[in-house]
Amino acid sequence: MNTTINLLDEYTINKIAAGEVVERPSSVVKELIENSIDAHSSKITVEIEDGGKKLIRITDNGTGIKPDEVEKAFLRHATSKILNVEDLYNLNSLGFRGEALASIASVSEVELITRTKENDFGIKICLSGGKIIKKESIGTSIGTTIIIRNLFFNTPARKKFLKSSNAETLSITDTVNKLSIGNPSIQFKYINNNKVMLTSPGDGNLKSAIRSIYGKQVFDNLIQVSSDMGFIKIDGFIGNTSIYRGNRSMQHVYVNGRYVKSTILLNSINDGYKSILPINKYGICFLNLYLNPDVIDVNIHPTKLEIKFENELQIYNVIKNTINDTLLGQTLIPKYEKTL
Ligand code: ADP
Ligand code: MG
Repeated sequence: MNTTINLLDEYTINKIAAGEVVERPSSVVKELIENSIDAHSSKITVEIEDGGKKLIRITDNGTGIKPDEVEKAFLRHATSKILNVEDLYNLNSLGFRGEALASIASVSEVELITRTKENDFGIKICLSGGKIIKKESIGTSIGTTIIIRNLFFNTPARKKFLKSSNAETLSITDTVNKLSIGNPSIQFKYINNNKVMLTSPGDGNLKSAIRSIYGKQVFDNLIQVSSDMGFIKIDGFIGNTSIYRGNRSMQHVYVNGRYVKSTILLNSINDGYKSILPINKYGICFLNLYLNPDVIDVNIHPTKLEIKFENELQIYNVIKNTINDTLLGQTLIPKYEKTL
């Protein structure tokens, strides 16, 4: 066996890391939409073909990237969102690891077109397998369009494990829905194989975003939730007892604007509904939690879906009680809120 220790080159490092950040097309969509949100876009269009395997195109009207920084955006650990470790405790962006673009580019063919408001021209850059193959000036509007083609073309093992186009599309749809609900001030448009699937109003109203995505039946059966315990503020809506699901897919929880999947939060919701819903049924909820950024840690996993809380038992109790009190209050005094 060769015992020489090698320092891996950047392409190899990126490809290895891509295994963690880019699991499937929906992970690419998540990272790219999050970049558009961080760029203060008010309009984001997501287009996919063949479950994202053939094409993913995200167009935003955000800040864009400066012409001389376009290459840098594709370098590993290159980010405009934090400068040092202290910033991690005061995070107000979704991204901070500076690895999504590097990882995605290493396993696909990328075309990025971007323009800032300070420039009257844009830049187009093309990469294949992480290597820059073209960079040129181009006329374009302010914002960024990024196109990902042939995902995993150079990692056949990963490509083989992708599910059918239908299954990958379902996962992307779920990602777009969750990010649209979490950002009601942004107008989202979602196009699948040239068919418009969703246009969210982008009027800042959570309830109208819910209606545009999940329809009238869910909209008509929501109860407003609001609580302020000092260390945690909660607002949003929960479904009343006439709408529920057989799984947790309609449980939306956002912490400081970030969609998260947290066992402790999901348990608190389900325990809040316990004894009110039939057994093995899950309530519907759209909850925004606001906490001081220094009591949470989102740097648990590269996908940033998991979260750790300093005071998790307290948080568990507040959410469970808020849901339980809201549902019981609703049972005694029915309120029919039909207007937006
Ligand atoms: P991170 O989001 O963690 O900073 P990324 O690899 O996702 O890392 O992106 C690298 C950098 O590229 C970002 O910090 C940002 O400056 C820039 N960038 C990426 N996407 C966009 C976009 N849609 N609009 C403006 N800037 C972007
Ligand atoms: Mg990012």
